[in-house]
Amino acid sequence: MVTDSAQVVIVGSGMGGGTLAWGLAQRGIDTLVLERGEVLPREPENWSPRAVFVDRRYKPDETWLDDDGNEFHPGVHYVVGGNTKVYGASLPRLRERDFGRTEYPSGASPAWPFTYAELETYYGQAESLYRVHGTVGEDPSEPWRSQPFPYGPLPHEPYIAEMMRRLEEQGLHPSSTSMGIDVRPGGTCVRCQTCDGFPCRLGAKSDAETCALGPALAGGSVRLLTGARVRSIELDDHGRVARLTGDVNGEPLVVDGAAFVLSAGAVNSAALMLASRTDDHPLGVGNSSGLVGRNYMVHNNTHLAAVHPRRRNDVVFQKTMCVNDFYADMGDGYPGGTLQLIGKVQGSMMKTHATRAPERLLDRMAARSVEWLVMTEDLPSVHNRITVDANGRINVSWRRTNYDRHEALLAQAKRILRKAGYTGIFEQRFGIDMNSHMCGTAVAGTDPATSVLDPWCRSHDVPNLFVVDSAFFPSSGAQNPALTIAAQALRVAAETDWTSAA
Ligand SMILES: Cc1cc2nc3c(=O)[nH]c(=O)nc-3n(C[C@H](O)[C@H](O)[C@H](O)COP(=O)(O)OP(=O)(O)OC[C@H]3O[C@@H](n4cnc5c(N)ncnc54)[C@H](O)[C@@H]3O)c2cc1C
Ligand code: SF4
Repeated sequence: MVTDSAQVVIVGSGMGGGTLAWGLAQRGIDTLVLERGEVLPREPENWSPRAVFVDRRYKPDETWLDDDGNEFHPGVHYVVGGNTKVYGASLPRLRERDFGRTEYPSGASPAWPFTYAELETYYGQAESLYRVHGTVGEDPSEPWRSQPFPYGPLPHEPYIAEMMRRLEEQGLHPSSTSMGIDVRPGGTCVRCQTCDGFPCRLGAKSDAETCALGPALAGGSVRLLTGARVRSIELDDHGRVARLTGDVNGEPLVVDGAAFVLSAGAVNSAALMLASRTDDHPLGVGNSSGLVGRNYMVHNNTHLAAVHPRRRNDVVFQKTMCVNDFYADMGDGYPGGTLQLIGKVQGSMMKTHATRAPERLLDRMAARSVEWLVMTEDLPSVHNRITVDANGRINVSWRRTNYDRHEALLAQAKRILRKAGYTGIFEQRFGIDMNSHMCGTAVAGTDPATSVLDPWCRSHDVPNLFVVDSAFFPSSGAQNPALTIAAQALRVAAETDWTSAA
């Protein structure tokens, strides 16, 4: 049996856990990070579209089940750094209005238990930690900030600059995407074509291992145990977490501590709480509200490939521009969402969905296409939930919410692209397996009856249990989640009295 202990024990080393570890390291707090995966190797396959997208080299074999019992491969990566090892490194802030209640024709997005102003300092710290490149004054939806971006925006390649001009001619305000790749003077990023969805072979992507966990480990107060899968949370007679149990490389694992933080990702953190049920806690640990696993959100997302028959797209690093003109209002009084360029798609990457199309044809199409992500907010619903069955399998019940707004923004995006000369537009709507923006399964709030965590991500029920990952999101907004996860992790690290948590 392997035993260990620390003042603070963190489960998971992704955006939430890795960043929290960095924050605790700044305070010299004795911290142990338990990560079920291993360090992702730097190897030629990092940048192979076939290895990454077709052979799923860095994804687990694990499948989850939908409502009808069908298996699917979820968007998770069990490695040191979690999903950030392959993420697109687009690191925008949520907008100020996302922290308040937002009305939609089909429902409402609830307010957060803290304001944008309360998180703003930590957004700035997270941007420094994750080396975010961006600029102010271009984006009509941008929130106020107390300090500039740490680094200037990524330049647009000629094809994108020309596209930007075509959008501006339509009266739009395309702006620079806030990006976490290391193109600082002396930075190691070579701006390759295999970034979004791929690990970085050069360590130049601002992932949680590179920017947060690695520096935290170097400080000496933080330790990392890899291959360590936590399976259960055990409470003592006073209703506090006594220890975590699981296994490490085939051996039983028992870890004691004073405070325990779940940062296993929205679904796995909730699964851990649900699976740790006892006679005293029949709904699972920290679940007196019955809300653990519920309010599962993933954004409403669609990829668009827009083909211009006469323009070859020779871009290498495509993900530099977004359009947020419709974020706050689509012209009908209700919010829309964001349009973002994504990493340049190659023919072999399309093979995962266009399985019957010959790769040569897909390559020809990719040479003339530019790819966008259309992202709108989905709404929390208690019916959208994850559960864990008797065999420990994760089940996901999911129905789209607020989808009329997505249809509206999608139609608008297509109109804009056609006007810009793109005659062929192909869409791929995200299904249950494209859930990389998962959040909301242990929402934060002030009322223990309607939320799982307090505004600092501490369980309302169990005083030494925290959940610091995307599970705390009370609503999803319509911007990529990672910077907000990091900012909140820094806030929790700095504002929690970890001695009294013990
Ligand atoms: C292809 C892709 C592209 C993306 N692009 C962007 C983007 O451009 N911008 C953006 O903001 N977001 C993006 N995301 C989403 C972003 O990566 C996630 O929102 C973020 O990583 C979530 O952070 P987290 O801490 O909640 O979980 P994760 O980062 O996934 O970390 C969870 C960690 O917990 C570990 N773990 C799980 N269960 C256990 C257990 N039982 N015991 C021990 N360890 C465990 C996992 O191995 C993992 O390391 C993308 C995601 C993907 C997959
Ligand atoms: S674009 Fe830069 S950060 Fe991204 S994978 Fe390539 S070298 Fe790494």
